Amino acid sequence: MSKPCPICGCHEYDHYEYSRENLRNSLNLTSVNLCKSCNLGLAMPRLKQDTLDQFYKSGSYWDSQTSNNKFSIVHQKVQSFYRVNYIKSFLSEKPNNILDVGAGNGFIGEFTQASFPGSKYFFLEPDPNLSNKILNRVTDSKQFSLVESLDEGFDVIFINHVLEHVENPVTLINQYKKLLSPRGILYIETPNQDFKFKNSPFPHTLFFSKKSMKNLIKKVEMNVLDLTSFGRMTFVDPTNTTPKLLPRLFAMSVRVNIWFAQRAFNNLMFRYNDPTNGIWLRAIVRSYN
Ligand SMILES: [Zn+2]
Repeated sequence: MSKPCPICGCHEYDHYEYSRENLRNSLNLTSVNLCKSCNLGLAMPRLKQDTLDQFYKSGSYWDSQTSNNKFSIVHQKVQSFYRVNYIKSFLSEKPNNILDVGAGNGFIGEFTQASFPGSKYFFLEPDPNLSNKILNRVTDSKQFSLVESLDEGFDVIFINHVLEHVENPVTLINQYKKLLSPRGILYIETPNQDFKFKNSPFPHTLFFSKKSMKNLIKKVEMNVLDLTSFGRMTFVDPTNTTPKLLPRLFAMSVRVNIWFAQRAFNNLMFRYNDPTNGIWLRAIVRSYN
């Protein structure tokens, strides 16, 4: 019998195969099992967390994925601007302690410091080059290398594109749930069922939909304050008659270094506030009171 689904314990799956020649095989993931009960997608074969930790620690993933050109970095910065903006309406008072899990370039820290003066920015980022940059750039930032070493009450925890890379999403959310302050919130962002439009499951081990995200939050005994899909790649839309224009304008705004233009053009490319069939999911969740 197949291994049970980590969210609902069900053993029945729909099976998605990929054509062999397209598979990028760094983790030898070959197919996706979609849970018939809770709708969670699981890359097959199912890998242990130890194997995944070793893989991400080895650096081979980040070398292949982390795009360090200036356009990609500004794109990440704009995304972080919209993430921080988004959480504001869910906060009843100014957050003091903010934790960013998998901080990357730490742009979330820049924007939380600007939006919530006096707040402290804590982060987990395994890449030493990136984490040194964050420490230099974001004032009042503090790095942690292990989630086990954290004990502060966090008012906001960003779990941003982390959940789709782990073995067990229930274990991961529970780890951070206990670090929240009494009114604290989790911001969770993942791709939205990306197995449907990719050539290979790699590098994701889990695939979420609104339905499976809802089931996950219920399983960890938290309340969903908000759950939406968002984002659209307007520049690859076949009905768009000027697909190349926006990336060109964005590139120009990066070259001349004008932030409001970078934000405007990048937002027109990716529509961060458009919930129609979004390519990403975001959830705001809080513990039961
Ligand atoms: Zn399930």
